[in-house]
Amino acid sequence: MTEAIREQQAPDPAAPQTGIQPDAHTAMGAPRVRLTSLDTLWFQVAGTVCNLACTHCFVSCSPTNRTHDFLSLQAVRRALAEAVELGVKEYYFTGGEPFLNPEMEAILEAALDAGPVTVLTNGLLLDAERCRRLAALSEGSEYSLDVRVSLDGMTPESNDAIRGDGVFERAMEGIRNLRRAGLNPVLTVTEVHEENASPAGKERFFALLRELGIDKPRLKVLPIFQIGAEAERSGAYETWQRLREGDVPDGSWDHLQCSSCRMVTDQGVWVCPILVNEPAGRMGETLADSLDAYPLDHPACWTCHVYGVSCKT
Ligand code: SF4
Ligand code: SF4
Repeated sequence: MTEAIREQQAPDPAAPQTGIQPDAHTAMGAPRVRLTSLDTLWFQVAGTVCNLACTHCFVSCSPTNRTHDFLSLQAVRRALAEAVELGVKEYYFTGGEPFLNPEMEAILEAALDAGPVTVLTNGLLLDAERCRRLAALSEGSEYSLDVRVSLDGMTPESNDAIRGDGVFERAMEGIRNLRRAGLNPVLTVTEVHEENASPAGKERFFALLRELGIDKPRLKVLPIFQIGAEAERSGAYETWQRLREGDVPDGSWDHLQCSSCRMVTDQGVWVCPILVNEPAGRMGETLADSLDAYPLDHPACWTCHVYGVSCKT
């Protein structure tokens, strides 16, 4: 599927197999996606603050980016209470780097009282002690705790070209520490290198995890969004890469995560984890304010539709 999609990225009206006709509907409005049920709640728990500044980061996170700031334990508790009332089934924590948030472990504990939890990390702050505490949190909850560690290449050279010098080895050590503590992390990779998503590439990532002592390796592959730092690295979207009414004839948007998720930030509730830097992504102050349909008029929505992207594991 990936190869077919790559071919479609050329602005060739004859090429698409997606139902999208480039430039054929510029006068039409964006489709609106309805929230069918609020199953997944994301927390931008570290805001846009990260100890890395990856060259493909679609949120442009960095040590100095304070567009969004940390979420407090109190703010997370407030949102969790509302989420439980609304029937949310699972919780995801991201940033920036979540473990920069000084209240992160207490936040995870609170979330694990409410449902299954996944935390997305670059792995650099996963020392042995923290991993033991995370394992204890997991064991103490009736719900699962998944830790996702990001990597962008299977060698120090290919990974660190995107993530920074020395990051590969430090992330490997974080994964080792998780494994020693009894946790089986999910390795998250992006398609920043073409080989990452190929069958052979996936096998090499599985092999890498096995070398670290993980006998049941897990892998999540995500496409690239051409926004934030990535737009500067590889170029922004073409004007034709937009969704318009009629792009999905049967009107089914179940493949889009925004039909079943919202994102809590320090500045209110956003539609999804991808548009967190876009003012237009803000839907209101509380979850109750954010339940309306959302117009898919950002080019990143095109990627979601064409690739069937979900940031969930
Ligand atoms: S991709 Fe992840 S680790 Fe890299 S700068 Fe962005 S938030 Fe930080
Ligand atoms: S970027 Fe993706 S998840 Fe976010 S609103 Fe657009 S289609 Fe939905």
